[in-house]
Amino acid sequence: MPRDRVKLVCTSCGEENYHTDKNKKLHPDKMEVKKYCPSERKYTVHKEKK
Ligand SMILES: [Zn+2]
Repeated sequence: MPRDRVKLVCTSCGEENYHTDKNKKLHPDKMEVKKYCPSERKYTVHKEKK
């Protein structure tokens, strides 16, 4: 199964804090997850970016 590598970008400061693999056929929608942002030292919403 082909998997795509996506970046998760902090919507607050724009840092690319995480990378993840995702199958776009199973999850065609853009991911939006709450994750820890090290540069802000708090949990923020991270959005998928190509
Ligand atoms: Zn941030």
